[in-house]
Amino acid sequence: MSAAVLHVPDRPSWKCHNCEAAWPCQLAKDDIMATSDRTSRMIYLSLYMADAIVDQPGVDPNAIFKRLVGWALGS
Ligand SMILES: [Zn+2]
Repeated sequence: MSAAVLHVPDRPSWKCHNCEAAWPCQLAKDDIMATSDRTSRMIYLSLYMADAIVDQPGVDPNAIFKRLVGWALGS
């Protein structure tokens, strides 16, 4: 198991469990990019996005989309 595997979101804060940066932190992004194809990561990140929207009802869903999914759209 690589260290990057531990860079998972803590809920409901959605900070990285390991480094406490806003998730996905850079190491989580690197791990996602290295271990999934585009379709897989879109599904994976969209599922996280749905959970994040439920966990953070006061946060603009568009901002959550940009944070969790938007960074990977161009890849
Ligand atoms: Zn992290």
